[in-house]
Amino acid sequence: MGFHWKVLVWMLAGVLVGLGLQAFVEAEAHSGATFRGAEGGVELVDAVGPAQRSALVRGKVYSGLLTERGQDDERFHPLANQADFEAVLADAENGDVLWFVARGESETTTEPTPVTLGIDPESDRARMLAPFQFIGSIFLALLKMLIVPLVMSSIITGVAGIGSMKDLRRLGGKTFAYYITTSLLAILVGQVLVNLVRPGEGAQLGLTPNAAIGRTDENFIDILLRMVPENVVSAMTDNAAMLQIIFFALLVGYFITQAGAPHSERLLGFFESFFAMMMKMAEGVLKLLPYGVFALLVQVVGSTGFDVFKPLLLYMAVVTVALLIHIGVTLPLLLRFVGKMSPWRWAKAMSPALLTAFSTSSSSMTLPVTLKTVEHRGRVSNKVTSFTLPLGATINMDGTALYECIGVIFLAQYYASLPGGIDLTMTQQATVVLLALLASIGAAGIPSAGLVMMLTILSALNLPVEGAALLLAVDRPLDMLRTVTNVWSDTCGAAIIARSEGELGPLEAGEEPPGVPAGAG
Ligand code: ASP
Repeated sequence: MGFHWKVLVWMLAGVLVGLGLQAFVEAEAHSGATFRGAEGGVELVDAVGPAQRSALVRGKVYSGLLTERGQDDERFHPLANQADFEAVLADAENGDVLWFVARGESETTTEPTPVTLGIDPESDRARMLAPFQFIGSIFLALLKMLIVPLVMSSIITGVAGIGSMKDLRRLGGKTFAYYITTSLLAILVGQVLVNLVRPGEGAQLGLTPNAAIGRTDENFIDILLRMVPENVVSAMTDNAAMLQIIFFALLVGYFITQAGAPHSERLLGFFESFFAMMMKMAEGVLKLLPYGVFALLVQVVGSTGFDVFKPLLLYMAVVTVALLIHIGVTLPLLLRFVGKMSPWRWAKAMSPALLTAFSTSSSSMTLPVTLKTVEHRGRVSNKVTSFTLPLGATINMDGTALYECIGVIFLAQYYASLPGGIDLTMTQQATVVLLALLASIGAAGIPSAGLVMMLTILSALNLPVEGAALLLAVDRPLDMLRTVTNVWSDTCGAAIIARSEGELGPLEAGEEPPGVPAGAG
């Protein structure tokens, strides 16, 4: 059974187990708040779990609470003691929101304080969910473990690899200009769409925010300043310091080429081997993907229900449409007007690489096929392909960049729509663009790498990383499509650069050159 199917089957199993738990195993709604009767209402004496995460204040007196706020059946329940409160709670379900009105403040003058109910940690269901939570957390930890070494070695080998070529300057300039332009175009498409559709707003993801959300006042200049690590070793101990790591890796890659014989060669060899080893390790961890996804899905569905997929469907649709715009409009326009060639014929010629990308979800695993396809079916010179494609497979990831941008803004919209949440500022949105670009550069060409990188953006923005865990549940199909986008952009880049170097090959793309059997691309 192919890996994709295996993941899909386990995903489905996770959903089913989660639904089963949801339907057959009791779990009372849980607020974690304890009150005692007070003059004009109830006083909060203790807060754990959901209540602790809310803005309820100990010692403060609340006159009552609202249910179904803003709906037709909105109702105010006056509270005089804990028993009143428990009566309301008995009718509520987990995921419901209770709005507490403080004494002496009317609902119109002061916002009531919301508490999102969770499931009772003492309940059977919570106990049954615990092992899945355990497995899910270990899986996420394994993914995070890979980040630093994989990013370092993938960038260093990519950049240092250029050094062995003549024409480094000219080709390098063109290549990077292409990478950055297309990635930014992709990000902008994503950003516009996600801000128009706003799929995260009011989504019932069942995630509760940490205390400090969306409150980074960091501006763009600070972020740029922070890009330069004062101490490389301490940067490498911090997954959130990815920017610094990428910056350093780019420098290392470049200066390996400057180190001269015999050092350049030795160092490059070392990093290539290290990278190969890390890719193996990542492969090993990714073998666990079906089970990780399973555990995470059971946890999510079992505690919040199937509703969680509805907002994700909209999110998935936004990602898909944005990717299709980039694949079908932006890149073809570049091919047509910058490369002066037929996008359709180029796409047909590239089909073996694109299909491999789709089924492996990995630019790196697709790379051998991409190289062969672009050279044989696309008739681009070896000089251009050997330089642009390996680098592109690691660094140029338009689909991933677009996805980072949508995913992060989606989660930010979700957290902002929660009580006390604050929308992303313009500076933060700009930060997201920059981080999405850097994350796409830093992401390794392996399945789900983009999602792992998203963790770093989330922590850089002070958003809870748990959100990304939820997106993992629906990552596979999106990953397939963004890998196609990544590889498609690499091949378009090779064609456009070849054309700018005066090559005519790509114009005639689509046929096998003599001597190569049809379909061998
Ligand atoms: N799987 C993608 C690739 O290999 C990276 C990603 O996860 O976005 O291109």
